Amino acid sequence: MAKNQVQFQRGLSLPEFMKCYGSEEQCRAALFQWRWPAGFTCPECDHTGYCEIAGRGLYQCHRCHHQTSLISGTIFEYTKLPLTTWFLGMYFLTQSKNGVPALALKRQLGIGYNAAWRLKHKLLQVMKERDDSRLLLGYIQLDDAYWGGERRGGKRGRGAPDKTPFVAAVQTDEEGHPIAMRFTKVKGFRKEEIAQWAQRHLHAASIVVSDGLSCFNGVAEAGCHHEAIVTGGGPASVTLEAFTWVNTMIGNVKNLIHGTYHAISAKHLPRYLAEFCYRFNRRFKLEHMIPRLGYVAVRTPPMPERLLRLAEPWG
Ligand SMILES: [Zn+2]
Repeated sequence: MAKNQVQFQRGLSLPEFMKCYGSEEQCRAALFQWRWPAGFTCPECDHTGYCEIAGRGLYQCHRCHHQTSLISGTIFEYTKLPLTTWFLGMYFLTQSKNGVPALALKRQLGIGYNAAWRLKHKLLQVMKERDDSRLLLGYIQLDDAYWGGERRGGKRGRGAPDKTPFVAAVQTDEEGHPIAMRFTKVKGFRKEEIAQWAQRHLHAASIVVSDGLSCFNGVAEAGCHHEAIVTGGGPASVTLEAFTWVNTMIGNVKNLIHGTYHAISAKHLPRYLAEFCYRFNRRFKLEHMIPRLGYVAVRTPPMPERLLRLAEPWG
């Protein structure tokens, strides 16, 4: 699909959104439907008979008497915010093209900065886990990329200090059109690191093209066919057709992150990368973004703030 087909698709207008998810009751009904599409199922014993405990928002299993709330065991657990605020947050995060800083969310949602930051990062975590649960399959353009450390006069390129390395992968179709992308923070570009990454993110039937960086031979350990094209570096290498998309997307995502966020912490880079990949991977489906994100959100385990703020050991 051409670029303007993404820009001119219908999307979900704010009035349409408000019509579907404008009240707490509508949001509860939507969450119930996403969490239990076939009707209530007890999280403890799978029994389907239950009653609602009036006024407390709890569901009690008829068999084991376990009580559960709509949001317990999901990313929304422990929240003090109304569901309408969460849904509006999902709306802004999925319908925006450039990402929404927590400071803007704070104003748009009328909540405190920390609450906005938590809401945003929990939703980004949902996006990240969702994309990480799918393997890329097909033609994969692979490259090494770096975030930050672009100081004037400093060392540039691979291995410069203060840079956070990430693997950039773009899945294309046979004609070389981009289908999906996955950007993953890594500790460095060593063969075993790439082998682990490939086992987690690539289908064995994939055909991987990379430049000559030797660590990329690691994708063979995930069963992928690997073709190394030695470019010799320099400006000419980025115009090589085999790498057009991965280079374009690295540039786009860096520009978007720079343009939207003043400074981001390297430890949170994986979620910012996931934010842009998630939206890119669903760029033709703007209209359906809320139910799709919501469906995954009620299947994503809670993430306490302590964990959210910790650096991730593996992107
Ligand atoms: Zn039960």
